[in-house]
Amino acid sequence: MSRTAKSFLRTAAASPAERKPGSATIELIAYSPEDILRAIASSAFGFPGYVPTFRLDIVHDGETERFIGLPEWDGTKPDFAKVIAQHFNGDDFSYFLACHFGENRTMNRDIMTDLGLRYSVFRETDAGPERVRVQSSIIVPVKGEIRSINHLIDAHVDEVHQIVAPFKRIDQGFAQTIQAFINNDMPLAERRLAELIADAPAQEEVSYWMGDLDACDVCEHPFALLRFMVDGDIGPCCANICARCFNQHGVGLGTGYGQVYESTPEGWLCVAG
Ligand SMILES: [Zn+2]
Repeated sequence: MSRTAKSFLRTAAASPAERKPGSATIELIAYSPEDILRAIASSAFGFPGYVPTFRLDIVHDGETERFIGLPEWDGTKPDFAKVIAQHFNGDDFSYFLACHFGENRTMNRDIMTDLGLRYSVFRETDAGPERVRVQSSIIVPVKGEIRSINHLIDAHVDEVHQIVAPFKRIDQGFAQTIQAFINNDMPLAERRLAELIADAPAQEEVSYWMGDLDACDVCEHPFALLRFMVDGDIGPCCANICARCFNQHGVGLGTGYGQVYESTPEGWLCVAG
């Protein structure tokens, strides 16, 4: 994890206790493979698994504050040939060799800078993510447009292909991971369900799922990794199911059929049905 992220985590974690009396519970999930080229190449397929990120939830007095760390792009045009020339002697194979020995990690920060990328921290708010930074011991909002790795990819499709191609050609592990991701229909099922409920009328009452929720009753996929849970009729009975099983077994949405719940920092919120 970068130094900035560490200092942010220290301040964020310390602040609620200083602001208010009582203790706070903190949950942190952090991941950084320190390989931004792999993150970009995989994101081009919609696979977020190599993107460095952290999620910090601070629960205090029943309220949750959520912070998310992600790379942010400043809008400069990426030049992958130049990156390979400057850091890997112009040979994309040397990049994969460097990865093999872990040498690429030490250059990751410089490569990110060359591509106009840096780590940023966002606070989740009702109006969407808000960029924040640590100023001495407080957290302050920072204005400005937010651009993710996905914006970089959308804006420079041909250029990004320059870095995707060697990954597919040389790195068998990468190719297999992406293929498995594409063949897995869970992300697709969740996108379909999101589209299905996009125009659903707003719920009259705010209600959260009250019971325990571990895994899909049909396929046993853990809900912790998913966006949606459907509490629905699947023919013989009612069950808590994932978006994929809803596609296969669900009988529809609405009273008596099924309700869709979405994962939020406060819990599983009923969003449709
Ligand atoms: Zn399922």
